[in-house]
Amino acid sequence: MTYQLELNEASIGFGATEVVHRVSLRLHEGDIGCLLGPSGCGKTTLLRAIAGFEPLRDGSVALHGKVVCDTRHMVAPERRRVGMVFQDFALFPHLTVAENIGFGLRGQGVRARQTRIAELLDLVGLADLASQHPHQLSGGQQQRIALARAMAPRPTVLLLDEPFSALDPELRGQLASEVRALLKQDGVTAILVTHDQTEAFTMADRIGVMNRGELHQWDTGYNLYHHPATTFVADFVGRGALFDITVNDRNSINTPFGRLSGKLPEGIAPGTTLQLLVRPDDIHLTTKQEGIRARIDERLFQGAAYLYTLQLESGDRFQCLAPSHQQHSVGDSVALKLDIQDLVLFTADGEAL
Ligand code: ATP
Repeated sequence: MTYQLELNEASIGFGATEVVHRVSLRLHEGDIGCLLGPSGCGKTTLLRAIAGFEPLRDGSVALHGKVVCDTRHMVAPERRRVGMVFQDFALFPHLTVAENIGFGLRGQGVRARQTRIAELLDLVGLADLASQHPHQLSGGQQQRIALARAMAPRPTVLLLDEPFSALDPELRGQLASEVRALLKQDGVTAILVTHDQTEAFTMADRIGVMNRGELHQWDTGYNLYHHPATTFVADFVGRGALFDITVNDRNSINTPFGRLSGKLPEGIAPGTTLQLLVRPDDIHLTTKQEGIRARIDERLFQGAAYLYTLQLESGDRFQCLAPSHQQHSVGDSVALKLDIQDLVLFTADGEAL
């Protein structure tokens, strides 16, 4: 199986510090990947290494099955056929929209160039603006032109570094799904860097969550949310609370919510302390009088739902979503029903069981 992009145990450092540590990931042709993580975790550095601007200390980068960088050799950026879109767009102000898109096609015949420019203008829906200059366009239009320019030479992989961060939030959400559709239509393999998990969920087939130079998980958005590989991923992606629990037997655990049943992996001794992830959608508020109760400490209106912060008698706090027509007030004592499909458990050092 040939992957369009393959990183194998890639490490990158500056001076004495290693800022990317043994990262491995793969993308199939036409797939969109995303690197997500807090500021300074190494996302941009990793992207720059794929583009050819940073050498590797260890491991390798391969594009379309060909190693372009390892510890012995490094193919120059211009020979990797990697396209890039940055947050500041960097369109050429003195060139028209069509000329901007055609910029990377110099060296091709006039006819081939014109055809590809027209194709991309159509794809990004801006054919009417072909002879305008960048300053005459809105931010969203400029970003679409920057994308079209990067896609024009049919790069092996397109790298997008926070491409929407200069745009206002409403436009960002809309552009993210639009750009995904455009990339899919043209069959582009792409990798995006973002801080924004909604953007990652909207755009990517596969998301990598990074922290301090390490890739904790490279997976679908669904799996990051429902089957996080570490407590860092559990905490970083979506909302949730981690509770200390003890193993009761192979099929049950003792938690601040009482005893919960669920299958545990083999070899976990009764009495072992673990952590349990509880997401806001694992808990429902009920009108029943019996069962576990909690006090409402805070509530946030979110439109369709309220996000409640609740506190158990034990002092443990967690959050829960409930339809907004079902009103409860701060200070109320409410009954809870837990609806956990699978127990998501972690060892004391934060690794999923
Ligand atoms: P952000 O989301 O804030 O852009 P990031 O996850 O993209 O952050 P990087 O820009 O990759 O993070 O930086 C990772 C680490 O490497 C940071 O600690 C940064 O200070 C360091 N770093 C990046 N480039 C260099 C460089 N040229 N020389 C020395 N250190 C660097």
